[in-house]
This record gives sequence, C-alpha cells and structure tokens, in this order.
Amino acid sequence: MTTSAREETATNRTSAQHHELLRSAPEASLQSPVRLQPARVPRHRARALLEIGGRRVPFMRWSFIRLLLSMRRLMRVWQVGDGREERLADHVVQNAREGDLDDVIRAIDEYCYERSYMINVGDEKGAILDEAVRRARPSQVLELGTYCGYSALRICRAMPDDARVVSIEFNAANALIAHRILEHAGIIDRVAVLVGTLGDGGRTIATLEAEHGLAAGSLDFVFIDHDKNVYLSDLELILGQGWLHPGSVVIADNVKFPGAPEYRAYLKERQDQSWRTVEHEAHLEYQTLIKDLMLESDYLGGPA
Ligand code: MG
Repeated sequence: MTTSAREETATNRTSAQHHELLRSAPEASLQSPVRLQPARVPRHRARALLEIGGRRVPFMRWSFIRLLLSMRRLMRVWQVGDGREERLADHVVQNAREGDLDDVIRAIDEYCYERSYMINVGDEKGAILDEAVRRARPSQVLELGTYCGYSALRICRAMPDDARVVSIEFNAANALIAHRILEHAGIIDRVAVLVGTLGDGGRTIATLEAEHGLAAGSLDFVFIDHDKNVYLSDLELILGQGWLHPGSVVIADNVKFPGAPEYRAYLKERQDQSWRTVEHEAHLEYQTLIKDLMLESDYLGGPA
C-alpha cells in the first residue's frame, strides 16, 4: 500500500479499530507505522464513508486536510510537499494503458478520488472545459498552469487532431511529472510544456513567440488555472501581445474558490463590449460540498 493510500484509509478507521491495531501489533511493528495499517478498504466502501447524504465531503479525507495545511507552500511552489504529485505519475504509468488518453484521464481521477486529493480541474469542471474546447475548435491553445498535465490531457482529447497546446508551468518538477504523464498517454507531440510564467519579465513571452508560434491573432483558446492573483494581469499581458482574435475563447478555473474577484469584475465590466462571458456554476474538484465557478469568455475584439 502506498503512503497516499494509507492516508485515505486512515480517515476511515474508528478509534476502537486504532486501539485494536495497537494492542495486537507485535512490539517490533510498533516502531514501524507502516505495519499498523489494516487491510485496504474496498473502494466502494471507502467512497461511501467519504459521503454524507450523497455529497462527497472533502474534510473527511486526510489528503484534503493535509493539502489545506500545506496551502501556503502549495501557493508558493505548486506542490503539496508530501510527494503526491510524483506518486500520481507512478500510479498512471502502473495503472493506465499506454497510449490510451481516456484511460490516463480515468486513472488520474481514480487517484484523486481514492488516493490523494489533488488540485487538477477534476472531472466535473473538466466536462465544462471539454465543452468549451469543442465549441472553440482551436488550432493553437495556451494553458497557464500545467500542474500534472490533467487539463492538458482533457484539452487534447477535445480539440481537433492537428491542434497544438503550449502549457506553462511554474514548477520544473511538475513540468517533468506532466511530461511523463503526457508521454504515457501518447500525446507528447501535441503538447509542449514550458517552465516559466507570463509575468517573468518577457522571457517566457519571447520563448512562446520564437519557439511556439504565438503571434498576433494566433491564439484561439486559453485555459487559465494557475496563481489566482495573476489571472487578470496575465490576461492583460496576452491582450497586450495581441495574440487573441475576435472569437478566441478564454476559460478560467477557480474564479469562486479560491477566487479571482478582480478577473471576474474586469470581465463583468466589459460584458458585450470586448468580452461575452458565461459563468458556469460547479464544485471545487473531486468533491461536491465547496462550490466553484468557471468563466468562459468569448473575446469580441476592440478595446481591452
Ligand atoms: Mg484549478
């Protein structure tokens, strides 16, 4: 059993079970918490234990609590700090069929529901993203915030075969994890992962233009899912470069939670002038208690 699997099953154990385990454990094993774990709870039972009235409750998952405790680190370096991102790549390579995009997406969702909670866009909001990509039929996609590659997989599945994604990731370790997962899914030739940020003084913007074909009016679709504090400033940088054209679609995750109020207000002020935005109500990934919003915005052209 992996560390993350132990984390999840640990939340399902009663104090009486804990006591029984400690009482019956041989002395040597008391020095090794690994040996104190009970048999793995079957998935359907684990799932039922994590629900109240049919709603998936994130606060009953140790991996979610662990993530909350690491929030400051997560917002700074974009890894939780317990190795769950590395283990996700291992899980995908070991459990998903190589070259099978659907199966890789399935394996990531499985890991996030059953093993460690992660900040991918998730399956519920992922379906909104899929629909936006299908509607836009993009040739060139820019993603801000690769993380482990989950949304890039979904975008690839929904976009035309000859389209290309360039995805920007702040954390080089995450970029390697994403690369490994995208390679396993067989789509590494359709997605370029670039380490950097749009706001790094021009370096990443120059690379996008010199090596990834971004130019005036070339960008059809943008997915924004990185540092919530720079959603608006990065959108303004994109507009400043002139990469968008009338009809380009920009979709942003986590506008309600953790929240990007300036970004939301900016688009609201320009509704039916330079932007036309639809707000999609959904839930934060991999649970149904905390609500979230995705904003899907058509660029109409004209003044920013
Ligand atoms: Mg997100």
